[in-house]
Amino acid sequence: MTIEELVQRQKDAFRNGANRPADARRQNLTKLREIVKDHADRLCDAMKRDFGKPLVEAYASEIATVILEIDYHLKHFEKWMEPESVGESVYTFPSKSRIYRQPLGSVLIIGPWNFPVNLTFMPLVGALSAGNTVVLKPSELAPATSAEIRSLITSRFEPEEVAVVEGDAEVTTELLRQPFDKIFFTGSPRVGRIVMKAAARHLTPVTLELGGKSPAIVHSDAQMDVSTRRIWWGKTINAGQVCIAPDFVAVHESQREAFISESQKVLSEFYPDGYRPGENYTQIVNEEHFERLSLLLEDADILLGGRTDPQTRFIEPTLIAADWDDEIMEDEIFGPLLPLITWSDDTEIIGRLTGNDPPLALYLFTRDEAFQKTVIREIPFGGGCINDTITHWINPKLPFGGVGTSGMGAYHGRLSFDTFSRRQSVMGKGLWPDPEVRYPPHGEGKLKWLKRLF
Ligand code: NAD
Repeated sequence: MTIEELVQRQKDAFRNGANRPADARRQNLTKLREIVKDHADRLCDAMKRDFGKPLVEAYASEIATVILEIDYHLKHFEKWMEPESVGESVYTFPSKSRIYRQPLGSVLIIGPWNFPVNLTFMPLVGALSAGNTVVLKPSELAPATSAEIRSLITSRFEPEEVAVVEGDAEVTTELLRQPFDKIFFTGSPRVGRIVMKAAARHLTPVTLELGGKSPAIVHSDAQMDVSTRRIWWGKTINAGQVCIAPDFVAVHESQREAFISESQKVLSEFYPDGYRPGENYTQIVNEEHFERLSLLLEDADILLGGRTDPQTRFIEPTLIAADWDDEIMEDEIFGPLLPLITWSDDTEIIGRLTGNDPPLALYLFTRDEAFQKTVIREIPFGGGCINDTITHWINPKLPFGGVGTSGMGAYHGRLSFDTFSRRQSVMGKGLWPDPEVRYPPHGEGKLKWLKRLF
C-alpha cells in the first residue's frame, strides 16, 4: 500500500465511523495500555540498543508516564465527549448553546528519537481518546525502537485505525504531502518550520512541540544542596538529550562557588562507581551528535567533568564557566554540558532572558515569592517549575507545550483530547417565540431600539 492509499483508507474508515464511538475509543486505549505494559521489556530493551538508555530511566520516563496518561484518559474521556452547555446571550434568548467536540479525522504524529516511545504514544493516547485514525512516524535515529513500535502496533491495530510508517526525512516528506486533518510534530525548530510550511498547502492544523535553551535560574536565597541536586537530575536524565533539560544554569554570583562544590558532591553521589554508558548513563545518540558536543567542549573553560569516549559515545556531565556571548550559549545543547553563567541583579537576569527566544521550560530556584511572581509574569516560557526541574511534564493536569520558537499548541491530559478534537458550536432554538423584530422590513424604530440596548 502506498502512503497515499494508506491515508485515503484511513479517511474512508474514519467516515465510516472507525475509532469514533466511545466503545471503540475505550478498546483502543485498552489495547495501547496492553501493548505498553505487556511489552515494556521489549520496548526498554530496544531503547537500550538504540542509545543505551538505562532500564530504570526508560521504564520511568517512557512506560510509566504513558500508562499514567492512558489511565487518566480512560477515566475521563467519556465525560470530555459530552456536549458542553454554555450560558445564554441576551441577544439569542431563549436558546440552548452547546459545544460538541468532534474528532478531526486522520492525523499524523511525527516523533523524535530521544523519548521514542513516550513522544509517539503520548500524543497517540490523545488522538485515540478523541476518536481519530492515526499514522505514526517514529524517528529513524532510534531504529530498534521504531521497529518494535511498528511490530507491536501492527499486531493489535488495523492500518485503517492506527498505522506506523517508518523512515527518514524522505518518507516524512512524502507523508507531509498528504491531506491529513492534523499534524502533531515533536522535534527541532528547524524541522518544525518544514512541517508547518508543508501543512500550509492543505491548511492542515499543526501542533509543534519543539525545543530551545531552557534556563535554570538560581537566586541568592536558593537552598543550594537540593537545588543543585535537582538541576543535575534534570541534566543527566538521557544524558541531557531532553527537550526540557536545563540547558544552562544562571546562578547568582554569591552562590557560584557553592554551586560548583555542590555539583561535584551531587555527581559523585549519583554515580558512585563511575559512568557505565548503556547501564547507568545514556549514550549520545550517534557520531554526528557526539562530534557536535565534542566541538563545544574543545575551547570550553571546564569546571567539572569533561571526559569523553568516542567508542561508547560517552560524554561526562560537564560544568562549564560561560558567558552570554559564548558559542555554547547560541543553540540548544541537547547533551550533558551545563554552562554556568553568573548574574548579580534581578532586573539584569530578567532582562537577559526576556530578550532571548522563549524557551520550552524555565526553572527557578528561590524562596522569594515576589521574585517568583516577577519571573512568571515577565519571561515568556512554555512551562516550568519552581525549585525543581522536569516534573511539570509529568502531571497530566498541566498542559505541555512551548511558545514562539519552542512550539505551538499544547497537550497532555484533557488538553490532548482537545488538541485532537474540533469544537463545534451549536445553538438549539425552540420554534416559539418567534419575535417579528428580527425579520425585515427594518425601519428607524428598530435602529433606535438597538442603539438604546447596545
Ligand atoms: P528532528 O527535528 O531532527 O526530527 C524529528 C522528526 O522529524 C523525525 O521523525 C525525523 O524523521 C523527521 N525529520 C527530520 N528531518 C526532516 C525533514 N527534513 N523533513 C521532514 N521530516 C524530517 O529532531 P530530533 O533530533 O529527533 O529531536 C531533537 C529535537 O527535538 C530537539 O530540538 C528537542 O528539543 C526537540 N524535542 C522537543 C520535545 C517537546 O516535547 N517539545 C521533545 C523531544 C525533543
